[in-house]
Amino acid sequence: MKTKTFPIKIGLEIHGYLDTKEKLFCMCLVSGCRCSGVGGSEDIPNSRICPICTGTPGSKPMAPNIEAVKKMIQIALVFGSKISFETTWQRKHYNWADLPKGYQTTISGAHATPNAVGGKFKGINLTELHLEEDPAQWNPDSGKINYNRSGLPLIEIVTEPEFSDSEQVVEWLKSLILSLSYIKAVRKNAGIKVDVNISTYGERVEMKNLNSLEKIRKAIDYEILRQVEANEKGEVQKMETLAFDEKLGKTIKMRSKEGAADYRFIPDPDLLTIKIDKKMVNKIKSELPEMPEVKLAKLLKTHKVDKKNAEVLTRNLELVEFFEKLAMITAPKGVPPAQMASAKADKVGNVNKNLSWVTIELLRVLNYNKKTLEDEDVEILPEHLAELIKAVESGKITVLKGKQIMNDFVPKSFSLKEHKGEIGNIDEAAIENLCRQVIDENLKVVDEYKSGKGASLNYLIGQVMRLSERRADFKVAGEILKRLIGN
Ligand SMILES: [Zn+2]
Repeated sequence: MKTKTFPIKIGLEIHGYLDTKEKLFCMCLVSGCRCSGVGGSEDIPNSRICPICTGTPGSKPMAPNIEAVKKMIQIALVFGSKISFETTWQRKHYNWADLPKGYQTTISGAHATPNAVGGKFKGINLTELHLEEDPAQWNPDSGKINYNRSGLPLIEIVTEPEFSDSEQVVEWLKSLILSLSYIKAVRKNAGIKVDVNISTYGERVEMKNLNSLEKIRKAIDYEILRQVEANEKGEVQKMETLAFDEKLGKTIKMRSKEGAADYRFIPDPDLLTIKIDKKMVNKIKSELPEMPEVKLAKLLKTHKVDKKNAEVLTRNLELVEFFEKLAMITAPKGVPPAQMASAKADKVGNVNKNLSWVTIELLRVLNYNKKTLEDEDVEILPEHLAELIKAVESGKITVLKGKQIMNDFVPKSFSLKEHKGEIGNIDEAAIENLCRQVIDENLKVVDEYKSGKGASLNYLIGQVMRLSERRADFKVAGEILKRLIGN
């Protein structure tokens, strides 16, 4: 919804699950299990817990997970935020079923210096970002609590209230999620939880725990209209916390908004101050990958990829890096990819020949197997695809045979030299023999073709391709079939 005529200000508090192996203050795993069995206890409630993350009296937190601190630094660097080199953990008190120890451990609140302040992403200024632990998962209907989530490391990213409509928020969040996926900072399948603050005429209201882009879009659109209508009726908007009920399609009041004082923040006496080493920050900075917009610009300019395909490639860091390596391997001698832009058009064409093998064929095979290049068990080398493309280009194998070989590239690619099946094209005499066999075995289809059904020929060609294991040239097969049938 585009509504520019009202004084709309929208700010976000985004909670992302940091991609670490263990929880923030204990050694419980974030996912999976330490057992050797297949499947493990992935989905069994309360299977990844200990006295620390269940808040058992007498338990003390361990030193914070360094992996989580490093991921926080990566995120701060991507935004250009100013990193605080000394921060202290705070206890944010509240009494709720999901938090048995009575407080959440966080680097926010009245006395805290956030982990990083300022910075900007896609035109929106950031207020701060900080680490905190996730509470447990409480089901108000059954009363059951699952502590697997308790103590998971979260990053909270707080923006300035600079958004003005739902569309802008959703597009910005999509870019944010993509950039965070490039640095592997947040867990891909864990999703994000977003609190949205909106103010129009009155004080700001907060909508808690919106966990999908669609929900965020609907909630913002509903709430803006509601506030504008309330204002027209002369109602004054007070600060409050709302929940968005997706089934009803409306926001519901949860409580009047707490101020910081309500949480009685105090520094956590069980945890030491986090001191961040500048050398570590510099090392992390030097290891950051290029961000999506840089990759996109390179594809468009250096590799002359069209915008649509460039966008497909940049949706995933592994995919775009695979394409870049492939371009490097297949670049004509003496023309490194970096100089492709100034190379002659026919040489640049080489990169575009690779394109469909990556954006269509590779993605087809990966999707079919429900895999991605990121998966640990997937190992596809650009060198192997380059060899395959070369074999097709030189006419050593047919395009169809190339595609068939690619089907076997997941999970592990191989050199054509190691390929067990026959790969060379077969000659015309051999194709003719196969055509005769196909005609003999499909007399009914041959008659259909003779009586004018053109599509029957495609069926016959298909049979020749099958018998030849896709090593026959299908154009040649078509010609021979036509000649033999005498049509
Ligand atoms: Zn634990």
